[in-house]
Amino acid sequence: ATVLLIGSGGREHAIAWKLAQSPKVERILLAPGNGGTADDKMECVAVNVKEHEAVVSLCRDRVRSVDLVIVGPEDPLADGLADSLRRAGVPCFGPSAAGARIEADKAYAKRLMEELRIPTAPFSVFTDADSAKEYIRSGPNRLVVKASGLAAGKGVVVAADAEEACQAVEDALLGGRFGEAGAKVVVEEKLQGEEVSVMAFTDGRHVAVMPPAQDHKRLLSGDRGPNTGGMGAVAPAPGPLTTQQLSELEQLVFQRLVDHWVTEGISYCGVLYAGLMVTATGPYVLEYNCRFGDPETEVLLPLLQSDLFDIVTACVEGRLCPIDVSWRTDAAAVDVVLVSAGYPGSYPKNLEITGLDAAAATGCRLFHAGTRRSEPAGSLLTSGGRVLNLVAVADSVAAARQMALQAAQLVQFEGKQYREDIAARALARELL
Ligand code: ATP
Repeated sequence: ATVLLIGSGGREHAIAWKLAQSPKVERILLAPGNGGTADDKMECVAVNVKEHEAVVSLCRDRVRSVDLVIVGPEDPLADGLADSLRRAGVPCFGPSAAGARIEADKAYAKRLMEELRIPTAPFSVFTDADSAKEYIRSGPNRLVVKASGLAAGKGVVVAADAEEACQAVEDALLGGRFGEAGAKVVVEEKLQGEEVSVMAFTDGRHVAVMPPAQDHKRLLSGDRGPNTGGMGAVAPAPGPLTTQQLSELEQLVFQRLVDHWVTEGISYCGVLYAGLMVTATGPYVLEYNCRFGDPETEVLLPLLQSDLFDIVTACVEGRLCPIDVSWRTDAAAVDVVLVSAGYPGSYPKNLEITGLDAAAATGCRLFHAGTRRSEPAGSLLTSGGRVLNLVAVADSVAAARQMALQAAQLVQFEGKQYREDIAARALARELL
C-alpha cells in the first residue's frame, strides 16, 4: 500500500518509521515531511494541505495512487481535511471537523465533559471580559484562562493570582492576543498534581488505550522557563496513577466520549488524546487532542509490537475490536529533544547539523523535526525550533535516559539546547 502522511514533525517521522516496518506498506509520502523523511520507502512531496482538492488529486495520481491518508497535526483536521478526503472516497485516519472540535473548541470540550461526567476542573465560558473577571474574583483558585480556539499550544495562562488571571482575560478578550481563537475564553480552577498523557486508537466505536506517557513542556531543567512544544518524553509513565485508575481510564475518559459521538452521528476515526492531571482525588482531564501527541508518539511507537498499518486500517474500516494492539512491557523509551538557541522565542535557521552517525551508533533512533536537506550538497540543516528527537529504548528508564543523553552530546549544531532531566520523575519511581 501507499500511505500519504500529512505533517512535518518528529511525530510524523516516528509514524513513518513505524509504518515502514509493515510488509504491507510499500511507499510513504510525507507532505511536507522533513530532512529525515526520505529513504527507500519514504518520499517528501509538496502539496498545500489547505487546498483539499490538491490533496485529493495527489491521492488520485495514477503513478502514486494513495491508498490511505494519515493526518498528523490538528489544524488540517479542524479544517475538515478528513471530511474532504472521505467525501472523495479516499480512506483517512483522522477525525472529521466535528470530531476535531474536541481539541479546536475548548468551550465545547469542557461542556461535553461536564455533560458526560468526565472529571475536569470546574469552569465557566465567557466572551465578556467584565463577567469573566467577576467570576475569577468571586471564587478561590479560578486561575487558569484558556483561549477557546486553536492557539498552537500557547493559548493557556496558569496565573499565580486573580490579578494575573484578569490580565489574561483582558489580553484575550479585549487585546486580541490570540485573535479569533481568544474571542471566547474558558476560565477554570487550577488543579494540583502530576501530568500524564494517555492516548487511544479508535474506530469510532471501540477504543484501544496506549500505555501512559509523560512529556516535558518547560524549556529548562526542573520544569522551569517558558512552555515549549515539548522538550522530551518518557513511556511507559503512569505517574502517580494506580493500576486501578489506569484500567478505569478506558471507560471514563475514552469510551464515554466515543459512545456519545455515536449517538450524535459523529464517527471519530483516529487517535484521541487525553492530557490528565492526577490529583490527590484522582485523574482530571485538562484537555483532549484529536491526534497523536508530540513528543509522546516518539516514545510510544518504538514500544508498539503490533503492525501500525494493520491498526490504522482496522480503525478506518471500523473493525478495531478483534485487532491485536500489543506493547512491549519489558522496556522503556526516553526521548531527548534538541532545540535551537532562542527557542521558544525567535531562533536562527540553516545551521549545519553534524554527528548524526555517531549518535545513531549509540543505538538511539533519530526522529527529525526542524531539519531539512540543503541543495545540492545534501547536508543537514536546522529549519525549526525543535530540531531532533533522540529516542532510546532500553530495559529500564535509567538505561534509556543515559543512552539518549549520550546521543544528545554527540549531535552538534550551533546553540544546541536540551534538558538533562527528561524522565526524572519516572526514574525516581523506578528506583523506589
Ligand atoms: P497543548 O500544547 O498540550 O495542546 P493547550 O494549549 O491545548 O496545550 P492545555 O493542555 O489545556 O492547553 O493546557 C496547557 C497546560 O496548562 C497543561 O499542560 C497544564 O500544564 C496547564 N493547565 C491547563 N489546565 C490546568 C488546570 N486546570 N490546572 C492546572 N494546570 C493547568
